[in-house]
Amino acid sequence: MTPTLESLGHGTFTQNGRQALGSRPLLIVLGEYSNFPPFNSVHSLDYYERLGFGTPTPPFSTDHPTNPASLREYFRENSHGRFSFDRVAVIGPIELGVYANDPGPEARTAGILSRVAELAPQLFAVADANLDHLVASDELCVLLFENITGLQPANRDNNPIAVRLQVGPVTWNGTVRIHIAGSGPLTPFYQTAHELSHSIGTVDMYNTGAGNTRLTLMGAYPFFSNDQGTVHLDIWHKLALGWAEPRIFRMRPPNATVIREGADGAIVLWDEPRGSREHFMIERRSPRSYDANVAGDGILIWRVQQEVPNGVAHLGAPALTPGGSGVWSSGMQTPILTWADGESTGVTISVNAVGDGTMSVAWGDAVVQRGRSRHLRLFHGGNGPASADDGLTMTGVFYGVTAEANLEWNCYNGLGQQIGDPPGAQAWHRNTRNLIGRGWGSALHLLGCGDGVILAVSPNGDLRWYRYLGGGESDQTGGTGWHPNSGNVIGNGWQGFRRLFVKAPAGAPPGEMVIFGVAQNGDLLWYSYQGQGENDPSGRTGWHPNSGNPIGNGWQNLRHIHGSSNVFFAVAQNGDLLWHCYLGGGEADLSGRTGWHPNSGNPIGNGWQGLQHIFGGITDVGGLANIIMAVDQAGDLFWYRYTGQGERDVSGSLGWDPRSGRKIGTQW
Ligand SMILES: [Zn+2]
Repeated sequence: MTPTLESLGHGTFTQNGRQALGSRPLLIVLGEYSNFPPFNSVHSLDYYERLGFGTPTPPFSTDHPTNPASLREYFRENSHGRFSFDRVAVIGPIELGVYANDPGPEARTAGILSRVAELAPQLFAVADANLDHLVASDELCVLLFENITGLQPANRDNNPIAVRLQVGPVTWNGTVRIHIAGSGPLTPFYQTAHELSHSIGTVDMYNTGAGNTRLTLMGAYPFFSNDQGTVHLDIWHKLALGWAEPRIFRMRPPNATVIREGADGAIVLWDEPRGSREHFMIERRSPRSYDANVAGDGILIWRVQQEVPNGVAHLGAPALTPGGSGVWSSGMQTPILTWADGESTGVTISVNAVGDGTMSVAWGDAVVQRGRSRHLRLFHGGNGPASADDGLTMTGVFYGVTAEANLEWNCYNGLGQQIGDPPGAQAWHRNTRNLIGRGWGSALHLLGCGDGVILAVSPNGDLRWYRYLGGGESDQTGGTGWHPNSGNVIGNGWQGFRRLFVKAPAGAPPGEMVIFGVAQNGDLLWYSYQGQGENDPSGRTGWHPNSGNPIGNGWQNLRHIHGSSNVFFAVAQNGDLLWHCYLGGGEADLSGRTGWHPNSGNPIGNGWQGLQHIFGGITDVGGLANIIMAVDQAGDLFWYRYTGQGERDVSGSLGWDPRSGRKIGTQW
């Protein structure tokens, strides 16, 4: 059954049954002990008025200039204008004498509130909104600053105190027992707001996994940094406080929507049989206004287990680290999401910027429609074997999987001629964009392995072998040009890889086909297959004995990798294009010191983030070279030609054909 907002906990964080809506009175008290430096030796006293109830303009700063963030405005913004604190007063400094023999926070705060009641009992009398002579946590919040050096911020209830107010003939006798948010002279804005938020029902999230740092007000943050860093509450809290209404989607069938800031900008993804009990929440976050110090610009993916202590965790990029602070930014696709018990959802999520600060989020069976591309996937064919007379064969062939899951044949052997140049038109094979198969949309990975071989990883982990020997003749049924072993299973257990890329055999002699797998922990594993697609799901036929050996580590934090003969092009998180070359034979060496060209890992360009597709291979048209093709967010296709040897040059000027970067097609 589709969860409702109510079943997801909307508006369930209350005080005495009352949600934090509208406004709540907030009293700020400065309690000053004589054996610690006075408040005004750290901040001028008007700092506390401004911290509570100011209307500052960002950026916020503690000193030079003194422009603290405002608690009232922080909660107003987080609640989408539905809640803020009303100023009661800023009282003090109240002289408390020598701090000694601390009776504990409940008794200490009771004593301080009694001092406030002596000075201004009417503050409590007017807070008794329901006239029951009990001032409770839904009627008044107190933020207490004490000038104790090293005070740990906290939130405690005071021991009940009696208050008596006599106004002429009228007497009010009441009891005050409320939540007291406690803060010190060097407590940063974040921790002060964190403790105050506990008074409206928030729960800590810093004990979850990596601590949800800078993702939510309830995550981990320094205690004494005396700064004005601000981070919003997470969408789970906003829902539970009744401040947001995410849109609710089932995880299957594959679908997509737009994520934006605002009360209905986030989404919930759910599936049977878990229903509302465990689900994912996705929200748009960007560093601005009172979210200025959020960990990044993109989306957050929260895994929510209801009624489970520490059961709400951000799944941080790029490894879905529980509580991790990695924000999912445009162009990224997650590994397959798992439930908290480790069971796979079978679903990945991809994110792309749309414009106006909104982002499209698509979810589906690993291959999902991304951005405005006509293709789910584009990959190079890997060429064919070289002959002595004619050089490389099958040059320029690349495949696409269309949005309708058809397999498409393409061939480009130009040299970056501009669209509209007659030689540019001739560079495209006339069979380009012909469909040669159907039902290719569910593969987790697709590799063009040379000589027409295509390897596909099914969602259940089977590795399937195909070989296309046609020339792109149109036959969407897949009945023309395929080797009879096509579709055979040659291995299993391949679903766990983050990425696969291939060294296709090319040149003379062609060498072996090598498959490289990036494991979830970032280890790089080597496999070589010399079979001809003989059916053997056990994976014992045709594999080199070194298959499965580790040859490196730390390969998890990349946006993209593709093989181009024995060179690999990778895109780092910052958009740098990295060059790698492996010359080994799969000898086990997890340290990655064996078999690698010394230039491996060098940057050879930049700005490669944010693309929808990157693929390529080698060619001998115009001399031996690596060709890279890329599709941008608009669906335009760009051509690059690299003949360098991985010489370090992040500017991207060494080794590139001057025509590199030209647009050679549209609507890809
Ligand atoms: Zn806390």
